[in-house]
Amino acid sequence: MPGYEVFDKEERRQIMDVLKTGVLFRYEFPNERKGIYKVKEFEEAFARYCGVAQAQAVSSGTAALKVALAALGIGAGDEVITQGFTFVATWEAIFDIGAIPVFAEIDETLNMDPADVEKKITPRTKAIIPVHMLGAQARIEKIVAIARRHNLKVIEDTAQAAGGRIKGKHVGTFGDMGTFSFDPVKTITTGEGGMVITNDAELYRRACEYHDHGHDHVPNPGGRGGEGRSFIGFNYRMMELQGAIGLAQLAKLDSIIARQRKNKARIKKALKKIKGITFRRLVDEAGDTATFLAFFLPDAEKARAFNAALKENEAGAIYFAENTWHYYPKWEHLLAGSTLAASGWPFQHKEAGRDLKYRPDALPQSARIVERCLVYPIPVKMPKERLAQILSAIEKAAKVL
Ligand SMILES: *Cc1c(COP(=O)(O)O)cnc(C)c1O
Repeated sequence: MPGYEVFDKEERRQIMDVLKTGVLFRYEFPNERKGIYKVKEFEEAFARYCGVAQAQAVSSGTAALKVALAALGIGAGDEVITQGFTFVATWEAIFDIGAIPVFAEIDETLNMDPADVEKKITPRTKAIIPVHMLGAQARIEKIVAIARRHNLKVIEDTAQAAGGRIKGKHVGTFGDMGTFSFDPVKTITTGEGGMVITNDAELYRRACEYHDHGHDHVPNPGGRGGEGRSFIGFNYRMMELQGAIGLAQLAKLDSIIARQRKNKARIKKALKKIKGITFRRLVDEAGDTATFLAFFLPDAEKARAFNAALKENEAGAIYFAENTWHYYPKWEHLLAGSTLAASGWPFQHKEAGRDLKYRPDALPQSARIVERCLVYPIPVKMPKERLAQILSAIEKAAKVL
C-alpha cells in the first residue's frame, strides 16, 4: 500500500543528485545547482502522468487542498461541501481558508453520494470537495455535472488514489483542480509532500504564486528579490530532496498498483465465497488502485463479530466505525467546536453572528454503511505465508456468520 515498501537504489540515486549540489531549495542558486531542478522535474512528470497541463508541488496533501481553495477564490463565509468519511485534513483545509465545511453522506462507493450533495447546496455554497477514499473513485462525473449546474467549483481530494482512473482518465482531472498527498502512508511517498493539478493556466498561476508568498515567478534579472506580487500568499513549498524522491516513486506507481491488484484479487476471491459478504461498489474496477479492499457484512453486529474472529487469527481488518481520524461521528473536537482561538474561531464569530454546530447524528446513511464495513489495506509486497494466514483467518471467521 505505501510507496515506502519499494524504496531502493532509485530513491537513493535521486537523493544523491541533490546532495552533490548542496542546493535544497527549489528556486534560485543557478550556478550552484548545475541544472538540477528536482521539484520542477517532479511537477512536469506528474502532470504528464496524469495527462494534465499543470502540476504544482507543495509541502503536504493538506497544503494542496488549502492552495487549491485559495486559487479558486474560496474564503470567509463560503460553504464547501465534502463528505463525512474522509481524513480530517479535508475539512481542516476548508476551515483554514475561512470557509465552512458542510458534510454530505456517502453511498456504497464509500464516497460522496451525489443525491445528498444536491440537498446540501445553499446560496452560500461555492465548492464541492469529493474524496476518492481508500484508493477508489468517487462518482465524479455525476458530482461535476451537479457542480456545473449550480455554478460551483470542484476540487478532487485524490490523496488516497494517485494513479486511479475512470475509463482511462485519471482521477483528479475531472473537476477544476485535483490534490494529492505523498505522506508516509500514501501509495507513493516523499515523507511529506503534495501536488495540485489543473488544466487551467490561470488557476495554476494563482496556486503557484500563492504557495510561494505571492512571488510572481516572472523571469527577473534581479532574482527572487526583484519579483513582483499581485496578492498575499503563504509558504507551502516542497524541497528538492522531496522532489527527487517523488521522481523515483512516481516511476514505480503503475507497478505498485499492478502488484496491489494481484494481492487484492487473491483476498477478494476468498471473501467472495462467503455468503452474506458483499463488496464496496467500484465506479470502474479496471481503474481502482487496489490500495484497499472494502467489504460489507449484513449488519454492524456481524461486522464486529467477523472482525473479532479475523483478529484472533492475526488478520484483523480496519473497522472505520471506530476509527477516530476518518469518520464524522468520531471527530469529537469538531463536534465540540474545540479550537485554540480564544474567540472561538472558526466555529464562532460574534460580529458575523457565526455559530457553527456539528451534530453527531447528522449523517445516518453514512453510519449505516460504515458500521457494516471492514477494510483490508493491501500491501505491495505480500509473502506467501502472510497471504496464507489471511486466507485461513477468513475461512475461520466465516464460521461466526
Ligand atoms: C492523507 C490525506 C490528506 C492529507 O495529506 P497530508 O500529506 O498528510 O497532509 C488529505 N486528504 C485525505 C483523504 C488523505 O488521506
